[in-house]
Order: sequence, then structure tokens, then C-alpha cells
Amino acid sequence: MKVTYQALTDVGRKRKGNEDSLFVNAEQKLFVVADGMGGHAAGEIASSIAVDSINEFVCLTGGDEEITWPFGLDETISYDGNRLKTAVRFANKKVLEATKEKSEYEGMATTVCAVLVDDAVANLAHVGDSRVYLMRDGELSQLTSDHSWVNEQILSGVISPEQARSHPLRNVVTRALGGKADLQVDMQAHEIEAGDVLLLCSDGLTTMIPDDEIARVMRESGGDIEKAAQALVDAANAKGGEDNITVLLLKFEE
Ligand code: CA
Repeated sequence: MKVTYQALTDVGRKRKGNEDSLFVNAEQKLFVVADGMGGHAAGEIASSIAVDSINEFVCLTGGDEEITWPFGLDETISYDGNRLKTAVRFANKKVLEATKEKSEYEGMATTVCAVLVDDAVANLAHVGDSRVYLMRDGELSQLTSDHSWVNEQILSGVISPEQARSHPLRNVVTRALGGKADLQVDMQAHEIEAGDVLLLCSDGLTTMIPDDEIARVMRESGGDIEKAAQALVDAANAKGGEDNITVLLLKFEE
């Protein structure tokens, strides 16, 4: 399966800096979005350490060399699934180490959503509230489930998704890289079909525009991912652009 991509990040309308990081390694078919948190530009550091470390580990395991798996192997998932899962845990270790290096890095953390493509299988890893969506036959579905306080409340039936959108605690993430050493990474593997589009994004998109609007914008772009990426960023800015907006679109073709 051939994959093409379009990546775009925008500071938005309210923030001074951009704490999101996006990363593509076309050769390894690795695609990552990370949304950093922390004062004094530390969020930016956290998200960039995360994407660099994920890439480092994925590259290390992309060849024939025998390598040591720092957290062991998970027998329930594929080799590429293991590469990606371990890469995220390795990145967590790197972010944690950095938090101890300088006092201004203390408490910094980052979300991650990452895709590693192996022919017609998309391996997905995520931690935090950055999301992955699948657009198939004009229908949009959210593949990831946010590790956030409001999502936990939704899942336990305490609040509705509509209430979550305006909830004062909507930005509270319950799982992130840089939090604790024993990080749980949610893994998925999806069979990809020709015509599928995957969207990786930071919450600067999804807190500004609801899913039905994301779907509408993507449908209107008629499969042109360059147009879709720009239209999504424009739509989030039009609604206020309160946070950094990052979108990474992957299009699959025979
Ligand atoms: Ca954000």
C-alpha cells in the first residue's frame, strides 16, 4: 500500500509559542504528533524529545541488527507493534530523564499519537488526548480514546460529550510521557484499505471543532489531503484558535 502524507502545524491565535511537535520518517513510514505541556517553553522541549526518541528507537529496530528490548517484548502484538510501543516507552524514559536535568524542565510532559505503517497494517500508539481518526468511505471514526479527565467522566456516564467540550477541566490529561516510569501505552493495529485517510491531530483541532465538522471539511476536500490539512487548521483558527493546532494526514492508495 502506498502512503502519502500532508503535515501542518500552526501556533493558533492565542498562544505565543507552539508546543506541538510533528514528525515524519517517510522511509520507516513513521508518523508522530506530540503535544507538550510545561511552563517556560518546556512543553516544546518535551514534545520534541518525544518525537526524536520515538524515531531513534524505530530506526534502531528497522534493520537486521540484534538489539536489546529495554522493556521486553509484548507477545500479543506484532513486531512493528512492539517497535512502536517500545519506542513510546523509550521516549517516556527520555522525557523523564530530561525533567531532572534542569529546574525549568520539572513537570514537563507530552502526549503522543504515532502510526507505524507496515504495508496494509497501520500500527497505532497513543498516550494522552492527541487523537487518531480514520476517514473511510466518507465516514469519520475516532480510533483513539483520550486519556483525559473529561473522557473518563464521559465513559463513566457522569457528563455528556457536549458538556465535556465546555468543561473547565477539558484540558486535563490523565496519562502523558514524562509522568511516571511505568507508562501504559494504548496499542492498536488496523487493516488499511485503499482510499483510507488517517488523521493524527493535537487537541488544538478537536477542542475547537467537533467531529462532524472535521468530517465535513475532509469530505469537501475531495481526497486532496493538502487542501484538507489547511482547511482543518483554518476552521480551528476561525473558531478562536485557542491552542496550537497540528494535523497530519495520511492517504493510502494501491
Ligand atoms: Ca494542546
